[in-house]
Amino acid sequence: MNTVTRPKVLVVGAGFAGVECVRRLERKLGPDEADVTLVTPYSYQLYLPLLPQVASGVLTPQSIAVSLRRSKKYRTRILPGAAVGVDLKAKVCVVRTITDKLVNEPYDYIVLAPGSVTRTFDIPGLLDHAFGMKTLAEAAYIRDHVITQLDLSDASDDPAEKAARLQFVVVGGGYAGTETTACLQRLTHAAVQRYPRLDPGLIKWHLIDIAPRLMPELGEKLGRSAQEILRRRGVDVSLGVSIDKAGAQEVTFTDGRVVPTHTLIWTAGVAASPLIGTLGAETVRGRLAVTAEMTVPGHDGVFALGDAAAVPDLAKDEKGAICPPTAQHSMRQGKKVADNVIATLRGEPLMPYVHKDLGLVVDLGGRDAVSKPLGIELRGLPAQAVARGYHWSALRTNVAKTRVMTNWLLNAVAGDDFVRTGFQARRPARLKDFEHSDSYLTPEQVRAQVEGGAGKTGKG
Ligand SMILES: Cc1cc2nc3c(=O)[nH]c(=O)nc-3n(C[C@H](O)[C@H](O)[C@H](O)COP(=O)(O)OP(=O)(O)OC[C@H]3O[C@@H](n4cnc5c(N)ncnc54)[C@H](O)[C@@H]3O)c2cc1C
Repeated sequence: MNTVTRPKVLVVGAGFAGVECVRRLERKLGPDEADVTLVTPYSYQLYLPLLPQVASGVLTPQSIAVSLRRSKKYRTRILPGAAVGVDLKAKVCVVRTITDKLVNEPYDYIVLAPGSVTRTFDIPGLLDHAFGMKTLAEAAYIRDHVITQLDLSDASDDPAEKAARLQFVVVGGGYAGTETTACLQRLTHAAVQRYPRLDPGLIKWHLIDIAPRLMPELGEKLGRSAQEILRRRGVDVSLGVSIDKAGAQEVTFTDGRVVPTHTLIWTAGVAASPLIGTLGAETVRGRLAVTAEMTVPGHDGVFALGDAAAVPDLAKDEKGAICPPTAQHSMRQGKKVADNVIATLRGEPLMPYVHKDLGLVVDLGGRDAVSKPLGIELRGLPAQAVARGYHWSALRTNVAKTRVMTNWLLNAVAGDDFVRTGFQARRPARLKDFEHSDSYLTPEQVRAQVEGGAGKTGKG
């Protein structure tokens, strides 16, 4: 009988950070050095930056869901579920499996990469009436929803309903909200040609943000260029404005305007995964406080990274700077954290994470884009080439690259399609239903579950 027990490394989250970490561990760790388990609710890594293109139908959902089981070399054990609590003292992670059972998963080393959820505020009606843009299901739902509005408006004889269904509100002028508005506005603009009964003049997209500029991380000039492009396309951009309340058929802005609409898309920032709140550890602006080596102070064998962690940004001179929540940082942190897990296993020194931001690319659909690679400001086709080239090369598998390229080519040649699949028509469209942000345990519930017996399972 084999009585040798190997150290258990548990990675939570199969996003940019978690997958990079796992793949590096598989490559660099001998099979006898440790057992690696990945906790993830889905069997794919979602390429989030291309999500707005799924919402607009340029890409099919499958093309940005990169399989975790593409190669026979992948030897990590995948535990299908979501971590809903971690007991750092007992070194046990509580997982809610996809069959809704609570499982206690003991570990020696844990890498926390559960990413972020949509940040919401205490605005009346927001949680019940807004969609986010964080999951594949949300993007697919929004596409169906927008086409549904065109269909219903087309069929309606009530002028007020006709107009309300053709108004769309997006809150959040960061890259997610700006790209979402731009891509969906193109979709409705193209679609309306196929609806002869609809007046194109009634279609109105609103992009609002409380900040004075769009995408401040792009700098003033490019932010203004993006705003100009949107204005030229007829998008109403309102800055210094948020929403006061949201209803099923109207949204009230903080400047007093009441917009009759059935569509509110909320992309006003992200907050660390609620899993972080179950640890009882120190946080910085809601993200888990970690060292530059991505270890959690005071807790041996605990690492955290990506959107969920406040990783010090050593490339910036500014004291206390933390890395922004971007895929660019998460991927690189994933590699570095794997190296540090291996160093810990082998008793070697850990290395800090240092990466100088390469800039941002923003695809506004068609030939429109703004990018700032390595500090160089680009607009139009060159920016578009950089944006698409960057995303294409960052996709992990050749199959995903081929799917995305084929979709882009097909869209360039054949244009958009306006199919409403109806797959999710009967599903509630609330933010928490897509992001499962209410399925986490309290620290007390975690302790009770762990004390119930490590490795035991029970109904959640
Ligand atoms: C619309 C949009 C556009 C974007 N565009 C860009 C861009 O152009 N450039 C850029 O650099 N960044 C962009 N970002 C940001 C970027 O996608 C994130 O910063 C990045 O995904 C963070 O990586 P991560 O690994 O920390 O989290 P994620 O990639 O979000 O991965 C987290 C993973 O953990 C899983 N998970 C969540 N909770 C649990 C749990 N409790 N247990 C187990 N698993 C869990 C999730 O399912 C997911 O697979 C964009 C984001 C959005 C939403």
